[in-house]
Amino acid sequence: MNKIKILDESISNIIAAGEVVENPASMIKELIENSLDANSSSIKINVTNKGRNVKIIDNGNGMSKTDLFLSIERHATSKIISKEDIYNLKSYGFRGEALASIASVSKMSIASKNIDSITGHQIYVNAGKIIKDKEVVKNQGTEIEIKELFFNTPARLKFLRTKNTEYNKIKHVVLTQALANYNVSFQLSLDNKIVLKTSGKGFENCITELFSFNILKNLKKFKYGYYGTMDILRSTKDYIFTYINKRYVKSKIIETAIIDAYYTKLMKGKYPFAIIYFDINPKEIDVNVHPSKKIIKFSNDNTVYNDIKSELKKTLWENESDSMPSLNI
Ligand code: ADP
Ligand code: MG
Repeated sequence: MNKIKILDESISNIIAAGEVVENPASMIKELIENSLDANSSSIKINVTNKGRNVKIIDNGNGMSKTDLFLSIERHATSKIISKEDIYNLKSYGFRGEALASIASVSKMSIASKNIDSITGHQIYVNAGKIIKDKEVVKNQGTEIEIKELFFNTPARLKFLRTKNTEYNKIKHVVLTQALANYNVSFQLSLDNKIVLKTSGKGFENCITELFSFNILKNLKKFKYGYYGTMDILRSTKDYIFTYINKRYVKSKIIETAIIDAYYTKLMKGKYPFAIIYFDINPKEIDVNVHPSKKIIKFSNDNTVYNDIKSELKKTLWENESDSMPSLNI
């Protein structure tokens, strides 16, 4: 007797959601990336109910009615067409999985209007199925509302942490996105209270708005971004923000290169403040390693380490009275 069956799409979407939508913060990351890919200059997010209810409003390109219906289908994307495109990515998204995944584990509505349409359109989705749609009056852009995330996946719901923990993860996601996209204005509200707001008016304003004027004053430029002076050393590594081709990543290689460049300047337990914008030919990296795209594989780790460390070291030590350490170049 044969036993193997192809899974029903509603089940495979829930399984995929387990990877893409780990928690409210990872869902919000996907939604912001979609707004950025649509060239939005303003992104507003309101989060309630521990992150289970989220509303995100952008002023981007929007979608046609046909695209709106397709957007929640698995592997439906406007961002790549061919296999080659995966290795030459210009967008954050390409897997066509986020909306399908989110839709399958929530009650969601999406309203969108693009430049070609006179009116907008809105769909209501319950656990992946469209239950209603209607024409709506709206400005160009997209408005997505998610309610009761994980209502149909009780095990996943049980893994939600305390409100504080979930909200902190969300704040971190929005902050790291805002920092890479300083020409876009971001606003994040948690339980209707604004906790983060940027004007979209360039790097310097963004730093002041997200951190403080003191941080801005103590940041110096080098080839791959900005590094902090000794006046703003931190006691965790969390202030080394690394972006590869505008994608926020946790990269041990880059983190170590930065710390090693400071070398003897760092007291024990102190870490630099740094913002690294490292751009690399998309062919040299693989972002396809994990659905969250947070892990990036370089084709040559040593080159990246040496390049970043020597560039930072050169700038960091050049105006100092301390002599350059002879070891370890
Ligand atoms: P991906 O981003 O990998 O293409 P998603 O599931 O995140 O997949 O989104 C599916 C498609 O829906 C996108 O390719 C895009 O065409 C459309 N879309 C999603 N969000 C937005 C948005 N905020 N504005 C415009 N189009 C969007
Ligand atoms: Mg996407």
